[in-house]
Amino acid sequence: MSKLKTINEKQIMLKKEFIKQLENQFTDDNLCIICYVNEISPEFSLSLNCKHLFCKNCVKHYLETRINEGHISNLKCLYAGCKQTFNEKFIQKVVDRNIFHRYLVCKNREESKNLLQKGFIPCSFPDCQEMVLYKNGNNPLVFCVKKHRFCAICKEGWHKNLDCKNVNSIYKNFRKILRM
Ligand SMILES: [Zn+2]
Ligand SMILES: [Zn+2]
Ligand SMILES: [Zn+2]
Ligand SMILES: [Zn+2]
Repeated sequence: MSKLKTINEKQIMLKKEFIKQLENQFTDDNLCIICYVNEISPEFSLSLNCKHLFCKNCVKHYLETRINEGHISNLKCLYAGCKQTFNEKFIQKVVDRNIFHRYLVCKNREESKNLLQKGFIPCSFPDCQEMVLYKNGNNPLVFCVKKHRFCAICKEGWHKNLDCKNVNSIYKNFRKILRM
């Protein structure tokens, strides 16, 4: 009789333990898998195609740290091994405004670097951000898309019949005069 009772008690205990585990599992599912503190924000995770869920804090912290370090390419989902990347709209939504600005500056810089490697040169017109393709040996008269024209070799304004050397000294003197 007493033996039966203990078996029953054991079963009840096991049942209780099982329910507790289930409950724990359920609450864990609602917690961010990075910090295990904050609840996940489903409306925010919908933007990720992989459907991995994190809290906004963790994603914000991750993105802001990476951007502050200057790593703006390869911003991937925080889930280990997941290849899903965060797109620009998503990043803009999550990080602070000044950080997003930094992201855009880095992105421009990286794009310019890529273009330089492909043989593009920056427009020499003051404050113009455009890049122009120039291949060695081609006509050095180049235009950017904003129609600024300059010499691709010396980067000065276009000079028709003068060679770059002469133009450089003319411009140098001209700038000296302007500064006076
Ligand atoms: Zn978190
Ligand atoms: Zn993912
Ligand atoms: Zn230009
Ligand atoms: Zn020139």
